[in-house]
Amino acid sequence: MIERARELVKDFEYGKEDVRKATRHFIKQMNEGLQRDGATMGQIPSYVTSVPNGTEKGLYLAVDLGGTNLRICSVHLLGNTKFSIIQSKCAIPSDLMLAKTASDLFAFLAKEIRAFLKANHNDQLKSHMIKVESGHTNQKACSDDFLRLGFTFSFAFEQHALNKGSLLYWTKGFNIPDAIGQDICGLLQTEIDNLHLPVIVAALVNDTVGTLLARSYEAPGTTMTLLGAIFGTGTNGAYVEKMQNLTKLELSDQPPPEEMILNTEWGSFDNALDVLPNTPFDSIVDSESIHPGIQMFEKRISGLYLGEILRQTILDIVPLSTTIVIPKESPLYQQFSIDTSFLSIAAGDTSPALYVTRKELLQTLDIEASHEDARAIRELVLSIGRRAARLAGVAIAGIVIKSGRLLPSPQNSIPNVGDKSSVVSTQQLLSNDRKIPEKLPKNFLERFYQWIQRTFSSCFEPKPTLMQTPSPLKVEAAGIVDIGVDGSLIEHYPDFEKIIRTTLRDIEEIGLEGEKRIRIGIAKDGSGVGAALVARMADLRTGKP
Ligand code: ADP
Ligand code: MG
Repeated sequence: MIERARELVKDFEYGKEDVRKATRHFIKQMNEGLQRDGATMGQIPSYVTSVPNGTEKGLYLAVDLGGTNLRICSVHLLGNTKFSIIQSKCAIPSDLMLAKTASDLFAFLAKEIRAFLKANHNDQLKSHMIKVESGHTNQKACSDDFLRLGFTFSFAFEQHALNKGSLLYWTKGFNIPDAIGQDICGLLQTEIDNLHLPVIVAALVNDTVGTLLARSYEAPGTTMTLLGAIFGTGTNGAYVEKMQNLTKLELSDQPPPEEMILNTEWGSFDNALDVLPNTPFDSIVDSESIHPGIQMFEKRISGLYLGEILRQTILDIVPLSTTIVIPKESPLYQQFSIDTSFLSIAAGDTSPALYVTRKELLQTLDIEASHEDARAIRELVLSIGRRAARLAGVAIAGIVIKSGRLLPSPQNSIPNVGDKSSVVSTQQLLSNDRKIPEKLPKNFLERFYQWIQRTFSSCFEPKPTLMQTPSPLKVEAAGIVDIGVDGSLIEHYPDFEKIIRTTLRDIEEIGLEGEKRIRIGIAKDGSGVGAALVARMADLRTGKP
């Protein structure tokens, strides 16, 4: 059995040349997505045209409708890269995932928002309700007192504006056909208004975009974050792209923004399998999935599928075991019976004779495995996990290379506007003693900063001083390419980031030097903070500082 396992391990190897070829293909498909709709990688515009620098302030509501849970939180951005957050979480009732009308689901969300406000912001709710009952208010008249809400929506939608997006299709066990094509913010706002809540749905955001924004706000002493990536149930990433490269989108904004965050939808990279590895086990997992033939990159990387790939390989090797007897009723024969958390447990198992892995095999699959059996299974685990992390490295490398941020150029060596260089301490940030270099390209943030200063000069923070020449330390810090990540897989699978890093070093355009400049950090509470930040951006655009 162990010999067969080692043969399979070889099939899961994804070498230097494979990774290099895949990265080139990834960049090619990124470019195609920039040029036309309907390309393999969606490159969906988010209409978010700047990233936070950590000085943002304000109280915002955030709602995160994930595949399983609904999270509601209020986020108080403190303006010093810190925030305080109050959260509530509940499971989405399974009947609502298949509700008759979208209104059933969104009415549930609105009721949960009301319960959250009652529990945590009751004064604001009460005073508004008094106005409503006495007929002294209508939605518009008092909208300044309303809480702005950012909506993190982890399903596929086409964004039309910061607060508008139409649902493309449901995934993850949801199916409410009448919602397709409808404006998601509008659906939620209607139900909120029916309950007369003092809440405005200000912005809609994909979870990857939220991760990028949250990381950019929180990251200590770095330049603005380039990429937000999810390695959880699924995998996807959002990054900052230059508008001039996004030729498929024409904006009427004058002057046009310089940059925009794009949701790559990289889960569907190389659906044609031109460069992706494809073992017989991958083929089975795909053919037995709900949507065969799509999300092929995701099916080799993410939490929903890794356990299933492992199950297929175990089914292959166990007939060769001289000791394992699999009961007929063993969950090993059921799809999705191995959760990807098992891979983390087995990969990290340092117990004598792999006791922990064997206990887990007994509990989850009803399989009594010897030390030797467990060793064979663990080798499979490591090879599947390693291949996933190397493929994750391909996506990260593709985006870092495409961004040009590792290339020597004045833009990359001088801190950007709002640079949170490591030489700026929290204390300095608190005292607004932030240094901004001159002669920078005016990005959206800077232009807005100036406009808001002109318009709201009396209530605006003191103008940051200009810095004549960047100090060497600042140049060094500015050379860092920052990446925010989220998801149980990258958080818990042992050495996932380490393997990503070796992969980055394997790619010539990055190499040892480039890899050292790439900083990867978990975006804590990303969905809440990201949604709050994008709600704040929406506020700025409507002139509410
Ligand atoms: P979501 O993607 O729904 O936002 P998560 O980021 O928590 O949620 O990811 C859930 C996925 O991660 C599931 O597919 C699950 O199998 C997997 N998972 C959960 N715990 C672990 C773990 N300890 N190690 C690896 N994968 C895990
Ligand atoms: Mg998530």
